Amino acid sequence: MSVRKLFLLPGDGIGKETMAEVRKFIAAMNEKFNAGFETEEGLVGGSAYDAHGAAISEEDMEKAQAADAVLFGAVGGPKWDSVPYDVRPEAGLLRLRKDLALFANLRPAICYPALANASSLKQEIVEGLDILIVRELTGGVYFGSPKEIIDLGNGQKRGIDTQVYDTFEIERISAVAFELARTRNNKVCSMEKRNVMKSGVLWNEVVTATHKARYSDVQLDHMLADAGGMQLVRWPKQFDVIVTDNLFGDMLSDIASMLTGSLGMLPSASLGAPDPKTGKRKAMYEPVHGSAPDIAGQGIANPIAMIASFAMCLRYSFNMIKEADTLEKAIANVLDQGIRTGDIMAEGARQVGTTEMGDAILAEFLKLSA
Ligand code: NAD
Repeated sequence: MSVRKLFLLPGDGIGKETMAEVRKFIAAMNEKFNAGFETEEGLVGGSAYDAHGAAISEEDMEKAQAADAVLFGAVGGPKWDSVPYDVRPEAGLLRLRKDLALFANLRPAICYPALANASSLKQEIVEGLDILIVRELTGGVYFGSPKEIIDLGNGQKRGIDTQVYDTFEIERISAVAFELARTRNNKVCSMEKRNVMKSGVLWNEVVTATHKARYSDVQLDHMLADAGGMQLVRWPKQFDVIVTDNLFGDMLSDIASMLTGSLGMLPSASLGAPDPKTGKRKAMYEPVHGSAPDIAGQGIANPIAMIASFAMCLRYSFNMIKEADTLEKAIANVLDQGIRTGDIMAEGARQVGTTEMGDAILAEFLKLSA
């Protein structure tokens, strides 16, 4: 039996409550399928600050580096609003992304049939939607230098950010997108602004060249990022995989995710480069939502984003495709049965808390796996 090393960082607020549901899946899969998960747990965000005065300790960073995959809950809350900037809760998340070199952020936008009428768009536009946004996460305008505000000396200041991409950064993110497309509907749409940005011209050239050299079996389209935003709300089902830079990806993935309803439904994965020796990628899986201080401690948070993040972990870190498919199907079935947490409640449905939702999905998962 192979050992699968998971490092769990529940974090703050509802992160603790939703991670508790994932622990049940890990235990059940070990017990019933001999899955071989070995878990360690650490502190991140406000909880780490309270314990160590840092947003994540060096010891926990080492454990994150040594794990096959990190599962991350959520960080933050009013208690830590006034802690020094470099030890604020989010610093723990940014440190993990940076030190693990997680350059590819994957955000699926899946519209479960049972929730199609909860979207702000018409049901026929979102029903059955299943797209994946691949966002470059460690480069571009959020990191380029110079990044500063300078005093022009005439009563004016100038704010400067620098959008910068090198060939290798575009090659590796587009390779991730093409490879994922091969496991889905085999279509990639690359989005940039080559009409007004030099980095967009290079992005377009490198994606095209990478496609030609290694992935010509995948259908490739290009779209200007502003038109892409418009198309995402006009007819999102035209897309399969979208690949884009850090800035556009930040916005486009938020647009795409909101097509599907509540924040409590949205998982994500962040992947690094494959290790040349083992072929394994560093990876972290986390819900898109934050620590939800307004509902923390009440047992009412929706655990689906966290559980679906675990499904992504099964798929991308452990190649457990059948188990990931089954877990996603279990989530869909439970929603079909009319079981809902408060954030996705609908008329005629049965409202449950975090634990009951987790238990219902686990029971369905085990039933489908039998
Ligand atoms: P949030 O995502 O925590 O909450 C926004 C709203 O959505 C709230 O009304 C919340 O109750 C609801 N919500 C979120 N997740 C839910 C779930 N699983 N089930 C039911 N309802 C859910 O965002 P916020 O309120 O802007 O931020 C709260 C704290 O979280 C802040 O400290 C912020 O900095 C932090 N934050 C952390 C992350 C992260 O850890 N990745 C992401 C975003 C925000």
